[in-house]
Amino acid sequence: MDRHTDPAARKADGKQDTICGCTPETLLRKIEGFHGFIAPGLVIGALMVDWIQELMDPMAEADAVVETCHCLPDAVQIFTPCTVGNGWLKILDWDQFALSLYDRFKLHGYRAWLDLTKLQSSPPVRDWYMRTRPKSELPGEVLIPAILNAGRDILSCAPIHMIRFHHRKKKGEIGVCPVCGEAYSTRVGDRCSSCQGEGYYQIVEP
Ligand SMILES: [Zn+2]
Repeated sequence: MDRHTDPAARKADGKQDTICGCTPETLLRKIEGFHGFIAPGLVIGALMVDWIQELMDPMAEADAVVETCHCLPDAVQIFTPCTVGNGWLKILDWDQFALSLYDRFKLHGYRAWLDLTKLQSSPPVRDWYMRTRPKSELPGEVLIPAILNAGRDILSCAPIHMIRFHHRKKKGEIGVCPVCGEAYSTRVGDRCSSCQGEGYYQIVEP
């Protein structure tokens, strides 16, 4: 085991000095600024990103995949250059608490996940994640320090090679919708998605 994967090699009290290059205070402030509040899942996400970034070649151009729509997309967007908008972050709606970063050319990377077998060591985090205790009994003042205290001890991380979801989405040809006259990607068909009946709105008359 090397320094990266051996938890015993970290500071004796188990805590890391910095997470994603931030002190814990700065980390929490960044999370609040982006996400609106300090979500426990986002703090765990930051720990995942931190661990993977430590293992990866810092010069690699890393793309990201998250396996849930909740919290983890924001951890990637705050602490890596990958965003939904630039296409370097893919979100799988699987509701699994895991994320991966990988070299987009070599397709090698790491996946970090919340490890249920290790969660037994941190009952507050376990009860929050498994929803076995009401939220009111697990306020942020309890949960956030418990997560920071546990650090990587509640996670696992493994090297991976990407076999799916690593292709960046190409933009299609642009056409003009013959019904509404708006520009749209012809990839969706001979008229725009709204005019095919997929619209999410009705026009409100003024
Ligand atoms: Zn149209």
